[in-house]
Amino acid sequence: KQEERLQKVIAQSGVTSRRKAEQLILDGKVKVNDKIVTEMGVKVTSNDKVEVDGVPLEKEEFVYYLLYKPKGVISSVKDDKGRKVVTDFLPEVEERIFPVGRLDYDTSGLLLLTNDGEFANQLMHPSKEINKVYVAKVKGIPHKKDLLKLRKGVQSDGEKLKAVNVSMISNDKDKKTSIIELTLHEGKNRQVRRMLEAIDFPVMKLKREQYSFLTLHGLNAGEYRALTPKEVNQLR
Ligand code: URA
Repeated sequence: KQEERLQKVIAQSGVTSRRKAEQLILDGKVKVNDKIVTEMGVKVTSNDKVEVDGVPLEKEEFVYYLLYKPKGVISSVKDDKGRKVVTDFLPEVEERIFPVGRLDYDTSGLLLLTNDGEFANQLMHPSKEINKVYVAKVKGIPHKKDLLKLRKGVQSDGEKLKAVNVSMISNDKDKKTSIIELTLHEGKNRQVRRMLEAIDFPVMKLKREQYSFLTLHGLNAGEYRALTPKEVNQLR
């Protein structure tokens, strides 16, 4: 279970600000599992019963969404430069959701959002080996042996980057561009772009088509849907 500081949990429940939450604790107005807590820094999980002035905190329900992220959008919940962020596309969602991992500003495609931190951490853990399928439009027409290098692993900024699967979907001999599909388990920063750059086929366009068994089927860019309980369980 995810542990969080008591004052943060109170603030996040919408009762008050973090500062005021600290004052409520100092004033002896906060109970954890029926006992008054006055020291700072106590950690609680969603199993603990927290009361403020005798009123139990509303437990926020966990929610899970799949967004077709358009390009030109930041994978975060706010941006200090005022650029569009992914949560702008789910205006009806009142819970404090955040993206599970990230897609680059210029990358479109499948992004999960949730308020369930434990679920998100599990999915992002490398040992989970979730297939993430990307389709890239690249400059140039790679040979089979170029693509094989991506499966063996290429070196980029001191990191070895690997794909689980790589294939050429199509190419345009006149325009000298290709469409490449890559399946990754890892999710390192700008991984697909760096891998294709490393073999000299720079990415012109990038989209994530699949995340595990989930696809973008039925959605246009900028649209989202809730995951079904069955889908959430299958991801766990
Ligand atoms: N790889 C990238 O280069 N960019 C993404 O957004 C995702 C994977």
